[in-house]
Amino acid sequence: MVKAKQNKMIYSFSDEEIFLAKETLKRLLLWYQKSHRDLPWRKTRDPYCIWISEIMLQQTRVEAVKEYYRRFLETLPNISALAEAEEEQVLKLWEGLGYYSRARNLQKAACEIMEKHEGVFPSDWDSVRKLPGIGDYTAGAILSIAFGQPVPAVDGNVLRVLSRVLHDEADILDNKTKVRMSELLRQVYPHEHCSEVTQSLMELGAMVCVPNGDPKCHECPLSEICIAKEMGDADTLPVKSKKTARKIEQKTVLILQSGEKYAIRKRTERGLLHGMWEPINCEGHLLESEIKKQYPLAQKIKKNGTHRHIFTHIEWDMIGYSVELPEQVGDYQWVSKEELKSTYAIPKAFQPFFKDLKQKYF
Ligand code: SF4
Repeated sequence: MVKAKQNKMIYSFSDEEIFLAKETLKRLLLWYQKSHRDLPWRKTRDPYCIWISEIMLQQTRVEAVKEYYRRFLETLPNISALAEAEEEQVLKLWEGLGYYSRARNLQKAACEIMEKHEGVFPSDWDSVRKLPGIGDYTAGAILSIAFGQPVPAVDGNVLRVLSRVLHDEADILDNKTKVRMSELLRQVYPHEHCSEVTQSLMELGAMVCVPNGDPKCHECPLSEICIAKEMGDADTLPVKSKKTARKIEQKTVLILQSGEKYAIRKRTERGLLHGMWEPINCEGHLLESEIKKQYPLAQKIKKNGTHRHIFTHIEWDMIGYSVELPEQVGDYQWVSKEELKSTYAIPKAFQPFFKDLKQKYF
C-alpha cells in the first residue's frame, strides 16, 4: 500500500509482502551459493572492478561484456589510471559497447574520486550516488557487492522477479514501483552475505525468471512461494506500460577511400554519439547519381549494404556506398586501417559499413 505525503512517498507493506520478500532472499542465497555462474567480476570485491562491470553490463549481454571488461582492466587497472587516460583511449576501449556517455561518465567520476576522495572509492551512499553516471541501481550494486552493505540494487530483472513472486501488477516502468520495491527489499535485506544476496537476485532474473518466453519455474528456487506461478500468471507479469514508438531516420553512409586511407570526421560535441568519430554520412537515402554529383572525382561508387541501428528513442535506417577517390578531399581526417584499429573509436552503428575492415579491426 502507498501513502503519499506532499512530495515524499511513505510505503507500508502487508505481512504477506514482508514474508515473501524475506523468503525470497533466504531461498535465493542458498540457491546462489550452489549454482551461480563463474563470471570474471565475481572473483573480486574491488569496488573499481565492480563499478566497471556494472556500468558495462547496463544494456549489454554478459557474454559481450567479458572481453571488454578484461581489456579495460588490463589497460586501465585502477582509478588513477582511468582518471589520467586520454578520453580517446577510454572511448576506444568502449568501442562497440554503445551508450558512450557511460564511458565519459566513468572517467569524470574517476577524476572526482581522485580530487575529492584521495583516489579511494567512497563507501557511503551519498558520496557514491553523487558520482557522475551512478544511479540508485549502480550505487546499490557497488555498496552491497563490494562493501557488503545491506543496500538493494533494483533493476528490470529484480522488478520482474518481485512482481511475479508477489503477483504485483504495478507498472514497472513507473519509477514509483521501483522506489517501492527498493524500499521493500531495504526493510528485509539481511546484514550478512549482502554481496551474494544482490547477485542472487540478478542471477535469477537473468537465468531463470527470464523476460521473454516462459520463465523456468520448474528449476526456480522460489517456485514454492511464487504467487504468479501458483496462479499460472507468470507470463503476464510484470506489467509494463507501452512505450512510444521510436522515430525512424534515414541515412546514407559513405566510406570514402583514397589509396590506403579512409575519411572520418568527429561528431559534434552535443547530441547522440557526441564527440565520436564517424564515416561521412547524411540524412536521407541518396542515389548513386547524387553521390557522383557530390564527389565528381570518384573513380568508383559501389553499393555497400544496408543496416538498421536501434537507439533508445531513434532508429537509423541506413544505406551505404563505398567511394574510391584519386586524392584526399574535404575537411576530413584521413586515416589508415591501423589508426582506425588503435586510435579512433567508431560507433557500432557505422561499423557494418567498414566491410573489409570489420573482422580485423573492430
Ligand atoms: S517460480 Fe517462475 S515466475 Fe516465479 S520467480 Fe520463479 S521463475 Fe519466476
